[in-house]
Amino acid sequence: MFAITGTPGVGKTTVSEILRRKGYRVIHINEVAEYYGCLSREGDELVVDLDCLDGRFDPYEWECDFVEGHLSHHIADRCAVLRCHPAELLERMKGKGWDEDKILENLEAEIVDFILVESLEMCAEVHEIDTTGKTPHEVARIVESIYLRQTASPPGNVDWISEIGGEIDRFIRKRL
Ligand code: ADP
Repeated sequence: MFAITGTPGVGKTTVSEILRRKGYRVIHINEVAEYYGCLSREGDELVVDLDCLDGRFDPYEWECDFVEGHLSHHIADRCAVLRCHPAELLERMKGKGWDEDKILENLEAEIVDFILVESLEMCAEVHEIDTTGKTPHEVARIVESIYLRQTASPPGNVDWISEIGGEIDRFIRKRL
């Protein structure tokens, strides 16, 4: 399976919708987790139990092109990690109306490459796409051509810590 992953707010849902409209079959990891009884609700949040999924998930039961979600790299062998400059990600997350704690948590995760590092541990084939300054359609086209093996986008070109001068706390506090 090919995962479309990345920090919440980076654009996975938007890009997935474009790919669906192009005719690709894209599922959300929550659908997969629910099917195996590995999804629960904690307050407003749906929580995927990864240990539960690990024992039950069978990729051959799923006829799909892509799986999306910020945990989707846990059940895929190929993935594209969507990245976004923290300043632009902040605006995308504000646009979604998220509260300050959620914005902070996700901004930190993006800056320290959290999902990329996990993806490198979980997937045999990892691609990294910097979505900063790109339109959702441009990103969808890149994901599509990676999926079709027409192009590759190996990780290593994103370094937000250097870009923000190494001062994560200062960068975040100044903007919230
Ligand atoms: P996620 O599913 O990763 O949490 P969403 O797709 O729900 O993220 O939200 C991302 C937001 O950022 C949307 O409002 C989308 O329109 C916006 N956006 C701006 N530029 C891009 C881009 N290049 N790719 C994807 N989303 C983008």
